[in-house]
Amino acid sequence: MGKITGFIEHARIEEGYAPVVERLKHHKEFVIGLTEDQAKVQGARCMDCGTPFCNNGCPVNNIIPDFNDLVYQGDWRNALTVLHSTNNFPEFTGRICPAPCEAACVVNVNGDAVGIKSIEHAIIDRGWAEGWVLPQPPAVKTGKKVAVVGSGPAGLAAAQQLARAGHDVTVFEKNSRIGGLLRYGIPDFKMEKTHIDRRVEQMQAEGVVFKTSTLVGAWPADSKVTNDAKTVISPDELKAQFDAVLLTGGSEQSRDLPVPGRELDGIHFAMEFLPQQNKVNAGDKLKKQLRADGKHVIVIGGGDTGSDCVGTSTRHGAASVTQFEVMPQPPEQEDKPLVWPYWPLKLRTSSSHEESAEQGLLKREFAISTKAFTGKNGKVTGLTTVQVEFKDGKLVEVPGTEKTHKADLVLLAMGFVNPVATVLDAFGVEKDARGNAKASTDFIGGYATNVDKVFAAGDMRRGQSLVVWAIREGRQAARAVDEHLMGFSDLPR
Ligand SMILES: Cc1cc2nc3c(=O)[nH]c(=O)nc-3n(C[C@H](O)[C@H](O)[C@H](O)COP(=O)(O)OP(=O)(O)OC[C@H]3O[C@@H](n4cnc5c(N)ncnc54)[C@H](O)[C@@H]3O)c2cc1C
Ligand code: SF4
Repeated sequence: MGKITGFIEHARIEEGYAPVVERLKHHKEFVIGLTEDQAKVQGARCMDCGTPFCNNGCPVNNIIPDFNDLVYQGDWRNALTVLHSTNNFPEFTGRICPAPCEAACVVNVNGDAVGIKSIEHAIIDRGWAEGWVLPQPPAVKTGKKVAVVGSGPAGLAAAQQLARAGHDVTVFEKNSRIGGLLRYGIPDFKMEKTHIDRRVEQMQAEGVVFKTSTLVGAWPADSKVTNDAKTVISPDELKAQFDAVLLTGGSEQSRDLPVPGRELDGIHFAMEFLPQQNKVNAGDKLKKQLRADGKHVIVIGGGDTGSDCVGTSTRHGAASVTQFEVMPQPPEQEDKPLVWPYWPLKLRTSSSHEESAEQGLLKREFAISTKAFTGKNGKVTGLTTVQVEFKDGKLVEVPGTEKTHKADLVLLAMGFVNPVATVLDAFGVEKDARGNAKASTDFIGGYATNVDKVFAAGDMRRGQSLVVWAIREGRQAARAVDEHLMGFSDLPR
């Protein structure tokens, strides 16, 4: 274990941030990772628990006590090997995972959790800097061909596992660049895209072929979901050319707000706004970018996507940013004895909230529901809201609380309902009650859909979730596909 008395002697250290005035000038990452010495001290805080709850709290079941100890001992190279044994892309999760492992950490019961995510971040960044992250091409090829549809973290994790098992893997992606929501959605200031490019190069050296701007199946003509496809391949063509097909197309259909005035100009899905900024950061010249400069912005939806809209609008130079959340404001501190080791409900203030508030721009409103949008000459100018409260388990309006708000730009960030249905329909894949691809996660027969040799994983199967869950599902689905092709599998589940 780390140091027997480490958790008593040493305080938790948070990663640093560049000053707000500096980081608002650009869209680049601004987190300052732990130094080598700081990471060692943080590793020393781990108690190497007999029952490491962190390991169970982590969706990829990272072997956390072991890499904490290795970092404490200064054995970074083995720490990296342990980290990679459960997670193909720790540089993604080390940056943007909400870290359910830390909520589950035993030190968190009555103190500050071990800084697991910051240690993970330090290990993988050191690994890349030292040149320790290298392609691992298979020693033997199987001659089996696998198509992976969608290049988000689920598709990438599956493709890497399957290529390393010796299969010929082709990843089809409708957008112009690889990465799914990591590329188009998650702002560059949370995760720069060079991290994806490096992995794509590694995977190409391992034999994975990437086909971008290529849509598999069918797409609705009026869809607002990002789609740069120039080529369309039918499911029948794909099934004829490949021995197995894995669908990892995500859950991209945004939840809409069909109230009066929705048709007005200036009301957009967050996922129209955020990907455009990613594209501009990558050097694309857009005909017209949806921007927030000088505008009164209202973000409807209090989650991560909403917070990303706050950070992006603040960088654009918005006149004000208001974020609405329909649920009541949660407590600032969770009731640990009640919720540990589970993910607690508590008020979450992101770096985007902090920097926007520091500029005097941000207002967060809770228990608020939008009743109508108002406008002039076809353009949105404001909206009408009402406060809501829970009565008999249902959210109801509080009489006499109607209010109007000024808005020049409204961003809808209320989550995602399901995958774009036409893709699943084109394959004839059965859907579950929420419209996701229907497939279990059973050890035997898991991730298989009702269609012969077609599998599904990630958000497309489980609904909109987290990068770490997508990686887990990609790895597990790869094992299921490998077993289907070979009759057995050595891949880790
Ligand atoms: C704005 C935003 C911020 C987020 N922030 C975080 C965060 O901070 N931390 C976190 O853990 N999670 C975050 N998430 C959630 C996380 O990004 C997703 O859960 C994760 O990316 C899902 O991975 P996936 O591989 O299943 O699907 P996706 O990442 O959605 O990738 C699916 C890919 O499939 C492609 N595709 C779809 N259909 C087809 C087709 N028919 N043919 C070809 N290609 C197709 C899509 O273009 C897309 O590239 C965020 C999500 C959003 C929207
Ligand atoms: S639960 Fe916390 S203290 Fe225990 S092994 Fe995991 S990281 Fe270390």
